[in-house]
Amino acid sequence: MLLWRSALLLAGIALLGLVFQPFFGWAVTFLIILAGMAGMLIYHLRNLHRLSRWLDDPTPQSMPEAMGSWDAVYSKLYRMVRAQGKNQRMLSAALDRFVAAGEAMPEGVVVLDEEDRIEWCNPRSMEHLGLDRTKDLGQHIAYLVRQPAFQQYLLNQDYSQPIILRHVAGNNFVLSLQLVPFDSTRKLLLTRDITQLERIQTVHRDFVANVSHELRTPLTVVGGFLETLLDMPDLDSATRDAQLKLMFEQTQRMQRLVEDLLTLSRLENGLEGRDERVDATALLQQLASDAEGLSQGRHSISVSQETDLCVRGNYDELHSAFGNLVSNAIRYTPDGGQIKLCWKLDNSQPVFFVTDTGLGVEAQHIPRLTERFYRVDRGRSRTTGGTGLGLAIVKHIAQRHQAKLDIKSEIGTGSCFAIIFPANRLLDVEEAIFAR
Ligand code: ADP
Repeated sequence: MLLWRSALLLAGIALLGLVFQPFFGWAVTFLIILAGMAGMLIYHLRNLHRLSRWLDDPTPQSMPEAMGSWDAVYSKLYRMVRAQGKNQRMLSAALDRFVAAGEAMPEGVVVLDEEDRIEWCNPRSMEHLGLDRTKDLGQHIAYLVRQPAFQQYLLNQDYSQPIILRHVAGNNFVLSLQLVPFDSTRKLLLTRDITQLERIQTVHRDFVANVSHELRTPLTVVGGFLETLLDMPDLDSATRDAQLKLMFEQTQRMQRLVEDLLTLSRLENGLEGRDERVDATALLQQLASDAEGLSQGRHSISVSQETDLCVRGNYDELHSAFGNLVSNAIRYTPDGGQIKLCWKLDNSQPVFFVTDTGLGVEAQHIPRLTERFYRVDRGRSRTTGGTGLGLAIVKHIAQRHQAKLDIKSEIGTGSCFAIIFPANRLLDVEEAIFAR
């Protein structure tokens, strides 16, 4: 376009010169053509100069205005620059979104260049690996994660599996680290905090080991006696009866353990009983009679019921929880001791508690008593027929009723185990009668 317009203009000037030639001669004609060409040259040079200046800062706002053939050139450039600006804005918005997503990721991400130096890292990776974005960018990752296992992992170049690291940069995290090559030369280093997962796995492993151990002892006893009975068919009846009695006790022990395990698993899986009106008076009576049966007259058992208000809960679960506390009180109180079952209102909160004058528990054991299989004295728990799961069951049932298990104990003096319900679990008498 620019070329055609210029050529047409040149042709016009030449024509004008030729028109004047018959009147003023060739000299004037050449002068006219020369002047026209000089004018055109100045016009183009001026526009070229403006274009070159504009190219130093090519924004649509600073674009020079032009007349004639250069106007078309500037219009085209204007459209191109605007389109390019729009693309650039879209690209930078997309990049911002990617960076923001990386920053918000719950896992750590570090971008490594072809020489394993840090190009970028998100806040979670800084937390995991103790990185500082202000000074660690450009540093080799092996200088910052100094564990030999990681250095080996980096060198091996087999990144198909993550590696587990502990105490990176003095932190208490258990981390899973995995390198993911991308872009033919770069790598992503992904970090994940698996501290909680590890803890759950340890608890699970310990639990399986504990259950196996608890079952192995009675099974060994039963197996041993059975072997004797098979090998010695002429055993006198008194010895045989004694062995059968012991075997029966051991099977009962296994049965109790399996029942407790099933109860615990039901509670942990959220298979809860339906809430209903729990008549505290009836429950207390049943517990007192259970206690008498367990104690066989070895203890002095009393019941103190300061209120007959009922609670909303599950009768079977509460019977099991309160029953475990009563059974513990009897089992850990020497003969002649006193055991008291009490139901009362404390600051409008219904409370069930059992006090005993038994052995008591040292303060350092109290926070751990509700752990599965935690025993203060393993031998004593076994001889009294304990499964080590009683208080774990109590804790679960209390939690399910939004209640709190409170333990007070003094060695040699006795203990008090209380279940404190929230006030909103209380049913007043009329409500209770209505609910019947
Ligand atoms: P166990 O079957 O061993 O009794 P529990 O979970 O019921 O298991 O109790 C955990 C531990 O708490 C017991 O081994 C025992 O040492 C201690 N304990 C529980 N209740 C009492 C109590 N009333 N007096 C003294 N120690 C108790």
